[in-house]
Amino acid sequence: MTETLNPFKIAQAQFDEAADILQLDAAMREFLRVPMRELHFSIPVKMDDGSVQVFQGFRVQYNDARGPSKGGIRFHQDETIDTVRALSAWMTWKTAVADIPLGGAKGGIICDPRNLSEGELERLSRGYMRNIARQIGITQDIPAPDVNTNPKIMAWMIDEYETLMGWHEPGVITGKPLALGGSEGRTAATALGGIFTLREAAKELNVDLTKSTAAIQGFGNVGSFAHKLIIEVLGVKVVAISDQYGGIYNADGIDYDVLRAHVDKTGKVVNMEGTTPISNKNLLELDVDILVPGAIENQLTAVNADNIKASIIVELANGPTTPEADEIFNEKGIYIIPDFLCNAGGVVVSYFEMVQNGYQYYWDEALVNQRLDSKMTTAFHAVHNMAQEKGVSNRVAAYLVAVDRVVEAVSLRGWV
Ligand code: NAD
Repeated sequence: MTETLNPFKIAQAQFDEAADILQLDAAMREFLRVPMRELHFSIPVKMDDGSVQVFQGFRVQYNDARGPSKGGIRFHQDETIDTVRALSAWMTWKTAVADIPLGGAKGGIICDPRNLSEGELERLSRGYMRNIARQIGITQDIPAPDVNTNPKIMAWMIDEYETLMGWHEPGVITGKPLALGGSEGRTAATALGGIFTLREAAKELNVDLTKSTAAIQGFGNVGSFAHKLIIEVLGVKVVAISDQYGGIYNADGIDYDVLRAHVDKTGKVVNMEGTTPISNKNLLELDVDILVPGAIENQLTAVNADNIKASIIVELANGPTTPEADEIFNEKGIYIIPDFLCNAGGVVVSYFEMVQNGYQYYWDEALVNQRLDSKMTTAFHAVHNMAQEKGVSNRVAAYLVAVDRVVEAVSLRGWV
């Protein structure tokens, strides 16, 4: 049988495993395997040349038993409803494992933003918001940036929302620019949260991180901050890093500031002075202590799992590991910090952003990071302890913690 790479099928298979262990009854299982609500819509956009192009948009509200649903908006040429469904499910488990009072959602538009002018991108973003405005809100569903969307796009969207509604309500969108009510620390939060979980894992495993090496896939928002912070906060040596164009390697370590300057100048990681080229395939298979998939999904599969040499995998990307690869890693005893635990820092600080917006009173970065640390550390140990107690992998344990919390809220509401 060939391995499925459909993210929603993978998300359902992972859920099913937890549902079996939790012995969920048939109705609860049926309810939690699929989204509660989906919005599919067409967005006509006037293009710069006078023509009209129609884009397909989605917003999936997977589950809101624990609170208003929350999740980013992706702009991608290969976006599919199943990707959005999977990511909305993972958001549900992520907010639950992080124990913040929110549910899970995700949105997306099938488009290639590289082919859109600034004006077209703005009209598309505003058109998307007009389609979802009545289905979102601080008490319903709160979008945020994700792949190919950013604070600037969030600014257009919050402006469109507030213009439509006729009032200010900054908490409806998170990941906003600071000047419009964004939170200090939000940009680095996903990577920093993952770094806190790695710190805790190292304590449990008795690993000296200052003597450890790491390879990082991805140099976008998540990968670049992971590079900076894994050195700054934990003293790990980063020997390889990549982006979609290829990777670089230096056994003596790759300096963050030098690489940042190089990428700012050239737009790519490759060809940084003092490094040798390495393919993304070889980067994943390097003999390092820590592997950080921080780019895209389905990178660790049945094809390469046997060749992975790292002893800790820090899943900052969503869905980097297929279930087949997971099985192989479990047999090999590789310690995985699973995605919706590892990368929960982004949504935790998004939640802090909503809280600050609600009070119209803002925290400094040190306070944001301190509260993020507390949330991530608690979440990590809930998962680690569950894994020890039940003798299951960290991924299954993360599902057990998260699904159990959602089940409790669904039951208390009397839904199922
Ligand atoms: P991004 O678009 O800023 O960066 C993605 C990076 O991956 C880029 O460096 C790109 O060149 C690289 N990349 C793309 N295809 C690649 C390939 N085939 N091989 C190697 N590198 C490749 O995105 P991001 O915000 O950094 O998100 C990265 C991952 O983290 C995604 O899975 C995303 O869902 C997840 N994530 C992001 C956040 C967040 O707050 N940004 C939160 C949770 C999870």
